Amino acid sequence: MIGSSRARGDNNTERIFNAAVCPFCACLCDDVVIRVKNNEIEEIRNACRFGVAKFRSYQKRLKRPIVDGTPANYEDAIARAVDILRESHKPLIYGLSNSSYEAQQVALRIAKYKRGVIDISESICHNLLYAALRARYPFYYALLDEIREKATLIVYWGSNPVVSHPRHLARYSVYPTGRYAMKGVTDRTVIAIDVIEPEFKKQWFVPVMPGEDAMIANTLTRLIKGEPVSASNHRIAELKSIADKLRSASYGIIFTGLGVLSGANAYENIKAILSLVDTLNKKGNRYVVFPMKGHYNVMGAVLLLMRETGYPFGVDFSAPDKRFEPGRTTVMGVLKEVDAALVVGADPVASLPAAKVRELLNVPLVVLDPFMSLTASFASVVLPVAITGVESEGIAYRMDGLPLKLDRIINSEYPSDKVILEQIYEGCSDSGVK
Ligand code: SF4
Repeated sequence: MIGSSRARGDNNTERIFNAAVCPFCACLCDDVVIRVKNNEIEEIRNACRFGVAKFRSYQKRLKRPIVDGTPANYEDAIARAVDILRESHKPLIYGLSNSSYEAQQVALRIAKYKRGVIDISESICHNLLYAALRARYPFYYALLDEIREKATLIVYWGSNPVVSHPRHLARYSVYPTGRYAMKGVTDRTVIAIDVIEPEFKKQWFVPVMPGEDAMIANTLTRLIKGEPVSASNHRIAELKSIADKLRSASYGIIFTGLGVLSGANAYENIKAILSLVDTLNKKGNRYVVFPMKGHYNVMGAVLLLMRETGYPFGVDFSAPDKRFEPGRTTVMGVLKEVDAALVVGADPVASLPAAKVRELLNVPLVVLDPFMSLTASFASVVLPVAITGVESEGIAYRMDGLPLKLDRIINSEYPSDKVILEQIYEGCSDSGVK
């Protein structure tokens, strides 16, 4: 019976995890050492502050299901969730970037069966990158391990890993030793391009006004091509220095963050950066662009949807042939069309614009989450799930697409989101109603 599964009988022993994977951000650091005693985490080594907080978050978890604002048991809550989905003709399945790959697979099955829409946070965060790729802008990419070994020039553009991915600098980019950077940071050139100067160690900081990134990238491209640039550009000397640095590196990497992909000029920004990297490669340098993914398994969701549907997010199964139209089949465009929402590990009420939140709150909401959230506070049904990577195991994909196994660190009575989603799927499909 869901919710009553007993913890394993080794709660009183001390256990050490020597290579636990941190389930907070998409770095998925896999060198975390955790000591567990009496089923409590006693010590955590190697994780950053976000990782430590995530591993300890089970102490602040949501404890009981909620149905219409009242505490309930799992059976009643799941039955109500099944009723909502049975009655729905076109549900939205949303979130999933903080879920295991196995849970994502079941969620996709529900979306297909119910002929609903499945969408993930990627449709808001990185949608314009995909738009540029669909427009056939060239994309040079590499795994983080190759970047660590070979990159001698690092650019963080619109991205401040100190506040978003604290160990990214130490594990994959600036500080680790590599085949071509045997002294680590002293063998690398580090450039930050952003509206606010980031805290990490860099030789060059190029300040930009919001929306100015495309102009900077286009100017660099022209300088690298040897083409004339506007004499009125008061930043020519500074950008010439940056262009020289870019040209002098045999292997460089541009990590792009949401600073590039947000704002009125975002599409122009990413197109200009992709063109800059294309130019550098055509000049004989090896450069790659690497989008900084946030949630720990957003890549798992993207890869699953790509494998199963051919699209990275926002897939609508209500049409005879599935549809993918960013802006129409994604959360920002589809809320008027759906008649229920199953939200898994996300808080769209806290993150969407007010008008979209109003649309979302017009339909019955089922929320699966280990924690209380703003969205959960408006939901018809809230189902607490185990924290993947802490209370349950599962597969997640690192930001470069490498699959990693997340451990169950402590024993827990809470069911995983995969288990709950399977129950919901079985309840819907047993009914024979789509
Ligand atoms: S950088 Fe990310 S994955 Fe690594 S320990 Fe910090 S939060 Fe966890």
